[in-house]
Amino acid sequence: MSSSPLSFRNVSMTFPDGTKALSDVSFDVSKGEFVTIVGPSGCGKSTLLKIASGLLEATSGEISVDRDRIGYVFQDATLLPWRTVRRNVELLAELHGYGKEERAKLATDAIELVGLNGFENHYPRSLSGGMRMRASLARTLTLKPPVFLFDEPFGAVDEITRERLNEETLRLFEQERFAGLFITHSISEAVYLSTKVHVMSSRPGRLVASFDVPFEYPRKPELRFDARFAELCGQVSQSLRGAHS
Ligand code: ADP
Repeated sequence: MSSSPLSFRNVSMTFPDGTKALSDVSFDVSKGEFVTIVGPSGCGKSTLLKIASGLLEATSGEISVDRDRIGYVFQDATLLPWRTVRRNVELLAELHGYGKEERAKLATDAIELVGLNGFENHYPRSLSGGMRMRASLARTLTLKPPVFLFDEPFGAVDEITRERLNEETLRLFEQERFAGLFITHSISEAVYLSTKVHVMSSRPGRLVASFDVPFEYPRKPELRFDARFAELCGQVSQSLRGAHS
């Protein structure tokens, strides 16, 4: 079995109603790798993350991951409306039994890292969509998870906010060097963040192409205007068009 923090071997998934969502998916995510999956809507991407986290059980195949230490960032920020930013960020550490001082320190560091200083005492309703997502990232960060799963976290925000959140995500990855598995519809987001991009076919999802992303970290926004960046995005896009057919 692989020694990577996250590994899928021949994973297939058929739902009880007969819907075949995934077919024979195999790949690893090593520490310090940021792997993104792009694929047509409904091809099984979320199903794969749910299998990784243990929310769903695969019909066949093997998954290797330490489930006690997974960070999961959802499509919605899922903050508790009656808690301030600080108390929301402390929530996971609280549930994991950290003492008061320890979780205050973890929350302060995480809030700093996502750039929410000054907003600790605000409630979610007074935050923008991007800030809520930052608070959600910070909450996950407090556990310092070696494996980070991102289920299309920035799909609901506008383009500029999305690019800013991409910057925060890069800073987190550059600092923490977790094993990251990210799902998105955005090809430029995939290439900008990742060490590797896998393209998934329409349902049942299979990996049909993989691209190594050669750009060094730390990455800067100017990279988005680099000709090599555009070329790689073009290749992924072409492969994705094939995956739709
Ligand atoms: P993606 O994240 O790529 O958009 P999903 O993983 O959410 O796709 O879904 C993959 C396919 O499996 C879709 O066709 C979806 O309708 C189907 N599906 C998801 N959950 C269930 C379920 N509980 N029962 C039956 N079919 C499901």
